[in-house]
Amino acid sequence: MNQQQTLQQYFGFNELRPSQKPVVASILAGQDTLGIMPTGGGKSLCYQLPALLSNKLAVVVSPLIALMHDQVSGLKKNGIAAAYLNSSLESHEQDQVIQQLQSGTLKILYTSPERLLSNNHELLSLLQNINIQLFAVDEAHCVSQWGHDFRPEYAQLGIIKNLFPSVPIIALTATADKLTQEDILIKLKLENPHTFISSFDRPNITYTVEPKNNGMGQLLDFIKTWENESGIIYCLSRKSTQEVAKKLQANGIRAEAFHAGMTTEDKHQIYSDFMQDNIQIVVATIAFGMGIDKSDVRFVVHWNLPKNIEGYYQETGRAGRDGLPSEALLLYNIGDAVTLRSFINKTAKPKDTLEKVDQETFQKLQHDKLDRLIDFCQTGHCRRKILLQYFAEYLEHNCNNCDSCLHPKTKIDGLILSQKILSAIGRTGERFGVGYVIDVLRGASNERMKKYEHDKLPTFGIGEDISKPEWMHYANQLIGLGLIEVQYDGFIKTLALNQRSWQILKGEAPVELTAYEPPVTKHIAKKSKPNKKIIEDFSVEDQELFESLRSLRKDIAQEEEVPAFVIFGDVSLVDMVKQRPKSKEEFGQIHGVGTTKQEKYWQQFTNIISIDSP
Ligand code: ADP
Ligand code: ZN
Repeated sequence: MNQQQTLQQYFGFNELRPSQKPVVASILAGQDTLGIMPTGGGKSLCYQLPALLSNKLAVVVSPLIALMHDQVSGLKKNGIAAAYLNSSLESHEQDQVIQQLQSGTLKILYTSPERLLSNNHELLSLLQNINIQLFAVDEAHCVSQWGHDFRPEYAQLGIIKNLFPSVPIIALTATADKLTQEDILIKLKLENPHTFISSFDRPNITYTVEPKNNGMGQLLDFIKTWENESGIIYCLSRKSTQEVAKKLQANGIRAEAFHAGMTTEDKHQIYSDFMQDNIQIVVATIAFGMGIDKSDVRFVVHWNLPKNIEGYYQETGRAGRDGLPSEALLLYNIGDAVTLRSFINKTAKPKDTLEKVDQETFQKLQHDKLDRLIDFCQTGHCRRKILLQYFAEYLEHNCNNCDSCLHPKTKIDGLILSQKILSAIGRTGERFGVGYVIDVLRGASNERMKKYEHDKLPTFGIGEDISKPEWMHYANQLIGLGLIEVQYDGFIKTLALNQRSWQILKGEAPVELTAYEPPVTKHIAKKSKPNKKIIEDFSVEDQELFESLRSLRKDIAQEEEVPAFVIFGDVSLVDMVKQRPKSKEEFGQIHGVGTTKQEKYWQQFTNIISIDSP
């Protein structure tokens, strides 16, 4: 069978993606290979296909047990002999796998680095008596001390090359930076490696950043547009994951909190409920991360500011791995930056990492990275351009799929507004928070105001005509632009003036601000639009059929105890809606339907399609 037929038979795909082709070719030519692809780029196929094209075994080293389990059940559903060996298996299960290995019936073996190196490399010795086609090292950036996912066992994987000098190694990662790449090549002892870096663009993800004015309302409006679709909401603290989840639940949304402080059991439950579509939304700290291999996550929301652009990109990258339209929303609140900065100042440089860098430089680096993220939030330019630029990729044209491109912001001359804010800060003695400063501008007469006699200031009430959220919108921008200084002492944040503030006060420099759009008009504007559909040109009937197919998929998944997308991804369901296959043969033509799935599922799915479209 040739490459194309194999791809069709096992995966139901028509062809390799352009970024996969050279990687697969390199491995088939027996070359050590480093493949750098963004999340969702299709890394797994790069080693799975070569394995299927040979009669030998592929060994995959992967850091995450949950991920191995899902990968293996997915492969088995496609009729591929795969298994994994890790600490989660009982010893009789392990024996079974070893037996399969020795009898040569296994095609792909997943294992953890710990298992590979344990008991004096027992497993490696065993593998030396088996015909091996390739070693794949997934999440290869874990070898590098430069990254944040450093795993000491990964750094020892160079032993593979020592023991199997003639077997090609394919290292795969979504981390693009130079230092990490070099580290991977060195630590894994790759020989004459061919490196392939694909574009990091994720064209199917729409990026939106909104100032957080009325957070929960904004969040609910957004979720409404993705009814029943899977999503992840990232928060900064455990407490906020719980609060947000609770409020969503109160609004009838199937959401659960997920954070590092939960028991392993609870975490596992939420993970599998999410995978099986029993929960729509997981509200999580970044602890809910690397192991998420759900291909149909339609949206990722940042309820708080992420730490830096790498983190933001990695987290938003968990949306839309299947290539269907998906969305990333960041609710931007400058107050979060203050909290993050105080974290940075308290964080000691990790012991194992960055030997060459001292504590002060380490912290400065983190602050600089946060600055870049804030710039990204405040930009009026194409967000995708800025993101890709950060990863040293240049996008020729504006993307037309981010909020800056889709809804360009109106700019206004902000000099007078800024002067009002700055003078209120100055006249109250540079020791109050933003809320109080706005109260002064709006002439709010409260106890505190009277006590300090701020109701007698000339600035008192000069901004009565502007609402509090609107003032907030301008003040946040001034902070972000560095025109107001934020001083923080623990959790108390006060505003002060700096040199640039004085320039503004004296009218020596212009200030351009984005105009305020009240949430109400936004709300109405959104309401008049229909809910987002996975595919824009779906008719009402199409959408109904899609829902029926989705619910069938869910039933089957529950019965077989696997994640729903292991049965079929959304891309396959969409193709079914479009093609409406009515026979086994037609069903076999659907994207993602290989021979095994065709045999197993054609009746159930074509039945529903025939009922819905007689
Ligand atoms: P990564 O590990 O790089 O994040 P995956 O290997 O999980 O990406 O693949 C992401 C998605 O793309 C999966 O749903 C997979 O089935 C799909 N995919 C991969 N390669 C192809 C291809 N050649 N044609 C169609 N879909 C593909
Ligand atoms: Zn854009």
